Amino acid sequence: MLTKKINPKAATKKTPANKALTNKAPTKKAIEKKGDGGTPLSVVIRRRIEAQKARFHANDNISAFIKPGELEGLVDEVAQKMQAVLESLIIDTESDHNTQNTSQRVAKMFVKEVFNGRYVEQPTLTKFPNVSRLNELMIIGPITVRSACSHHFCPIMGRIWIGVLPSKDSALIGLSKYSRLTEWVMCRPQIQEEAVVELADMLEKKIKPVGVAIVMDADHFCMQWRGVKDRDSKMVNSVMRGAFLQDSNLRREFLSLLDKR
Ligand SMILES: [Zn+2]
Repeated sequence: MLTKKINPKAATKKTPANKALTNKAPTKKAIEKKGDGGTPLSVVIRRRIEAQKARFHANDNISAFIKPGELEGLVDEVAQKMQAVLESLIIDTESDHNTQNTSQRVAKMFVKEVFNGRYVEQPTLTKFPNVSRLNELMIIGPITVRSACSHHFCPIMGRIWIGVLPSKDSALIGLSKYSRLTEWVMCRPQIQEEAVVELADMLEKKIKPVGVAIVMDADHFCMQWRGVKDRDSKMVNSVMRGAFLQDSNLRREFLSLLDKR
């Protein structure tokens, strides 16, 4: 009797093979046990992502796996867990009126505002054919950047400049769309180096230009508010693609025009 109880437990814990098994069958049972809506919404969404073998890093957009109306439920779930964080920080949210709804506010801020670029679809872009066959350097910026680092969830505040060298066959997008696309990419926890690469990839895909260049200049609050507490530390980085990579004159022209702004 006793061995029956002990053996299966030991087996499920140790070997990877058994672990894989337990991941399949028993979790399903566990859900059924919880039954009527007992599974946290985040787990439901996560399973959809895993079923498609998609990635869900902090800077990935997972909107394809979220059904209409579910973001509200996600806010509630995050709020509950945020409340637990406040409790662990030993903050009396009952009598401290300032923190009474903090968990709800922070949850809403994460899901609906500052990390919204993870949960909503890419803004729709109207593309225009390049009828006047523009092939001159265009510079868009500075576009205000509001993001957060994925290491500390501290704000990253800065500016971005985008340089585009269209080809005769490029699709052009309206100027305001550069801001909307930038905002969508930046409203996720991430690191600056990856953010600019992601933005450059997207612009290349959308516009199919001869070249794309991006410069980002930002304050990282994780170095100002905490850590080294260096108020003036900034990070500037750039991505150069296509013609901007090959043609040093074009690159120089782009960079020199930024300085004047
Ligand atoms: Zn950080």
